[in-house]
Formats: sequence, C-alpha cells, structure tokens
Amino acid sequence: MFDRLSSLIIALTLIAIAAILAALAPDQALALALLTLAGFAAAAILYLAVPAAPTEAHTAASAPSSSAPSLLRHPGFARWAGQEADPFIGTRGNVVTFANDAALELLGPHIAGADIRTAIRHPAAAEWLADAGKPGTPQEVSLVDFPRPGQRWTMRAAALPEDERIIILSDRSAIDAAERMRSDFVANASHELRTPLAAILGYVETLQDPDGDADPALRRRFLAIIEREARRMQQLVLDLLSISRIEADRFRRPTAPVDLAGVVGDTVAQLRETDDARAQDIVLTRPDDPMPILGDTAQLAQLAHNIITNAMKYGRAGTPIIVRLERTSGRVRLSISDEGDGIAPAHLPRLTERFYRADEARSRAVGGTGLGLAIVKHISERHQGQLDIASEVGRGSCVSVSFPPAQ
Ligand code: ADP
Repeated sequence: MFDRLSSLIIALTLIAIAAILAALAPDQALALALLTLAGFAAAAILYLAVPAAPTEAHTAASAPSSSAPSLLRHPGFARWAGQEADPFIGTRGNVVTFANDAALELLGPHIAGADIRTAIRHPAAAEWLADAGKPGTPQEVSLVDFPRPGQRWTMRAAALPEDERIIILSDRSAIDAAERMRSDFVANASHELRTPLAAILGYVETLQDPDGDADPALRRRFLAIIEREARRMQQLVLDLLSISRIEADRFRRPTAPVDLAGVVGDTVAQLRETDDARAQDIVLTRPDDPMPILGDTAQLAQLAHNIITNAMKYGRAGTPIIVRLERTSGRVRLSISDEGDGIAPAHLPRLTERFYRADEARSRAVGGTGLGLAIVKHISERHQGQLDIASEVGRGSCVSVSFPPAQ
C-alpha cells in the first residue's frame, strides 16, 4: 500500500496521536484502550508495507531468504528471463534459486534448489564455477560435448550482491557446424583445384623434357589434356565465384520483374548454338505469353543452364530433354526431365551440398564441378523458389523449381 518509510511515519504519527489522546483521557482504561488500538493499527500498516514474497513459478522454494533487494527475486526479472531463448540460472552460493524455461528444458526440472555443480554436469563447468570471480579466471567457459557429444555450449556468469549470481548458457553448436562447413568447403575447393593443377604441371614437365619423345601426335594429346584440365579449373573457379556472389546477395530479394519464359528460351537457344550434340535433344514447352517473376536475369539463366546441362550430361544420348514452363498452383514452374540412369533415393537429399556427387567418376568424366546444384539451390532460395529433385533409377530424373509470380 505505502512504501516502508511512509508507513513508518504514519505508524509513529498514529502512536503519537494516541499517546496525546490517552494523556487527555478521563480514565486509565480508556487511555490503555486507545494505546492498544493505535499499536494494532501501526503494526497493520507496517505489515502491509513489507514486500510480498516472490511468487514466480521457477523461483526455487528452497531459496535462502534475504532482506536485501534481489534482482533474481524481482518479478520483472522472472518475466524477462522467461521470454529469453537462452537458459538463465540464478544461484545463491551454489544453490540454484532461479531457472527460466530454457534452463529447465536443457537441464531438467529437478535443478531448482539443487547444487549448480550437479545441475550442470560438466568438468569444465565445475572447475570454472569454483574459480569464477577470482583474478585471471576467463569471462566465459566452453562446455565441449555438452549436453550431448558433438554439441558445445558456453557459460558466462554475472556476480550479484549477497553471493548471488546469474549464469547464462549459450548454444554454440550451430556456429561450430557453420565454421566446420566453411573450413570443409575451403579444403574441398583446394583439393578440387589441386587435382587438375597437378595434371597440368605433370604434362608440361613431360613436354619440356629435352630428352622426351617429340612425337607430334603425343604432343597434341598431352596439350589436349592440359587444355581439358585447365578448362576444368576455369569452370571450378567460375562456379566458386558464382557461389560466393550469390551467397553475398542472399538476403537481397530481387525486385525487378523478369520474364522467366524469355530467360529460359534464351538459355536453350544459346545451348543449341554450341557444338554439344545433346543440345539438339532439348524440347522446350512453354506458353506463348510472358511469365514474369521478380528475379535476377543472369542468375535465373544460370539456374536454367545448370539444370539443363545436367540433363544433357547424365541423360542417355539421343533421348529427349523436356524443358517445361507452366503455371501451376498459383506459381510459375520450370521443370527439366531426362531419360537416364537416374539417381538412387539415398543421394537425393544431399545433391545440393557443395561438391556432393552421386556418381563421382561419371561427374568427373563429364567435367562436372559438383557445384551446379548447390548454385541452383542458392539462386532458387534467393527467388523464394521451391526446388524439387525427383528421380527413378533406370528411368531418369526431373528437377523442378517453382517461383511465386510477379504481381
Ligand atoms: P556436377 O557438376 O557433378 O554435375 P551438380 O551439383 O550439378 O554437380 O550435381 C550433383 C550430382 O547430382 C552430380 O554429380 C550427379 O551425380 C547428380 N545429378 C545431377 N543431375 C542429374 C541428372 N539429371 N541425372 C542423374 N544424376 C544427376
């Protein structure tokens, strides 16, 4: 009702008035009654001024009481921590006095009132908690393989008065996985470049050997290999550059309307002009009117090119490659089907990973970089496309992307 100081003043004033009235009272009984009444009233006012005990569900019942104001027992803190995705734990000494929902979910409901060293069962945590606050102790500790093997969390603590502290846990597993992916990517890219580079250097050395065979036919063969390997490297570098450019633009949605039918038509026309005989097997089916989507022309052309050339590479020679554009379920859909060996179901979920190949030897034989479908996936995502790869072993594959139409 009142704060503590006001209540005290009111209570004292009440007692003072009662004392004056008692002094003026005609008999002793009335004076005693007046003083008793005032005493009760003052006690009631003071009682109401004492703050209520915290009622938050996650405040451990066994928390030692304290007269000092505690951040951990403030209802506002419990509300705020309850909305946090990271686990928050409050302790007094080593006893857990507070845990938000995320902490209870991670460590179990039994942690309220438990010893923090048993609540967080990790050797690094126990050691760090014992030293926390001492000079030279790091601000943060890494909990490797916590709570399960392969995961990593970090733990930080903020000291509060009266031997209380707030402990915050953060999940670093996803960051670690992204970092691992990045370093794997660099290692894979280096390996992919090293193989053709070694072949080029080997053949150049052979050609430079003064005692070597100067047979012109052999020379031509070696030069052809050098050219093929150099082109493989060139394609790899171009694909790597594409991936990094598309990734950099990932969050920038295209805003200009582009006619997807026109882009795919141009891509097919360009392929037909090449000396790849398979390009003549492309059958393009599209409506006559434009099919606008919000897009980046160069990236959409690259997406169509990568899927169509895969069908050319992996489809059986002489069989048709059907490139179809249609409006379906309120979206604009591009689908490319081929007749070939198809892809085993186990490979399907991994085909869009960088450098993943269903058939390693075949991919290398046809000059594949293993990046084509990873690029397709990134371009599709940037255009809010839905990528679908369906395949039947021995029959063939159908890769489709459906985009929202431009309004
Ligand atoms: P690559 O450069 O090796 O073709 P992609 O990322 O384009 O790499 O494709 C990944 C793998 O998916 C290929 O190595 C191949 O094994 C498989 N693949 C892709 N498209 C087809 C297809 N149309 N038919 C059969 N296999 C395919």
